[in-house]
Amino acid sequence: MGAHALGVNPHSIGIGVDGNFETKPPTAAQMNSLVKLVLELMEKYHIPLDRVVPHRDVTEGTSCPGKLFPWDELMQRLYKGEFHSAAAGRHRGIKQVGKQRQNSGIMPDQEET
Ligand SMILES: [Zn+2]
Repeated sequence: MGAHALGVNPHSIGIGVDGNFETKPPTAAQMNSLVKLVLELMEKYHIPLDRVVPHRDVTEGTSCPGKLFPWDELMQRLYKGEFHSAAAGRHRGIKQVGKQRQNSGIMPDQEET
């Protein structure tokens, strides 16, 4: 990510999700991929859940990601994902997510035989 949050860019990761969530909430698919992506990043860079913050918390003057963005839902899903991952050791699901993303949405059970 380029300049996203002034002052914290050198030690933060910014994730952009397409849409204006002041007027319309993100789709279920967007939320699903966001949860997967954040969980991957949290695992890869050892980021605790309390360091996952909305843009508005680090940049003055923005309401980003917007009032219709379900931040609480995101936090809950990350919490569950994190808990699951900690309970199961290295979580297999997270590895597979990486593969599915590279296949750009083609699910394994839909591949040609
Ligand atoms: Zn933002």
